[in-house]
Amino acid sequence: MTTNTAPETDWDLAPGVLEGARELRLGPEQCDLDYWIANVAQGTLRGLVNGHRPDAVTPGHMREPGPLRDALLTEFSFRSVAEDKAARAITSLVQTAPDVKSMEFFATQLIDEARHAQAFRAHMLEVGVPAAELDDVVEEYTGEHRRGVLDPLEEFGLEVMNGPHPFVSGVAVLTILVEGILAPTGELSEHKWRIVDPAAASVERGAGIDEIRHLTVGSEIVKRHLERDPSLGEHLADVVRRGNELWATLPVLAVLKHREELFQEGIRGIADVIGDHEIWPGRRLLDSTPDERMATALEWAAQTQAARLAYMGMAG
Ligand code: FE
Ligand code: FE
Repeated sequence: MTTNTAPETDWDLAPGVLEGARELRLGPEQCDLDYWIANVAQGTLRGLVNGHRPDAVTPGHMREPGPLRDALLTEFSFRSVAEDKAARAITSLVQTAPDVKSMEFFATQLIDEARHAQAFRAHMLEVGVPAAELDDVVEEYTGEHRRGVLDPLEEFGLEVMNGPHPFVSGVAVLTILVEGILAPTGELSEHKWRIVDPAAASVERGAGIDEIRHLTVGSEIVKRHLERDPSLGEHLADVVRRGNELWATLPVLAVLKHREELFQEGIRGIADVIGDHEIWPGRRLLDSTPDERMATALEWAAQTQAARLAYMGMAG
């Protein structure tokens, strides 16, 4: 039970990330600090244990060494580093925000991302990683992917936020290139872990609820800047183009493939637990393949990015 007044922050009422990012419209004056305290800190986050609902369990099979646990550690290590980098980069948006409400909004997003990083790390402890070894385990499982994907992306974001129109350009990078692409893989994650590791799925759901807000408010901010000053269009389109070009050179597919192949090997070992459970309507999880899950996440990412760009007035 929560007392949220905003349904988009309620565990039972909030839409999925993709649907929410397509259909909701929220601005920074609505999602200010008061909103966050009432609806997120005292709403979405109330009663969570290690970033998930207290009744979402971590099954014993997640603590046993093997491909399933490796799949979880690979995915959650990468996610925790990505969230950590996002939190740090957002300090720049807090710094350059042109008005109080957008400063407050990014201050809350900064805490949201720091919380996501913490929740992914906390769940790694729940599957049995000793706290003293957590940093080493994260590096072991995702060091290569961090260097290959997250470091270059971070560098690009920081470069943009040190260039012309730092605030709106930074919001565009975060919304279109980072969250717009990563949020759909979080949505996939929620589906695939739901029965295999309910606590993991619940961590993803909690992060996803925040993501809806980040995507919608970020888009609203870019849209308004463009409406006020259409001459920004060329610069922002150039930033997005350069960002997409960078993405295309990063080994993102290799990261997803490695993750999904481990997961596939892992679920074969607990086929009795999974049974006829469906990853999405009409598709048994056990029949789904790494390529199919990757293609679905990428398709969702493309759709989310297109919908966000269109909303901002940057389509085409
Ligand atoms: Fe996040
Ligand atoms: Fe976010």
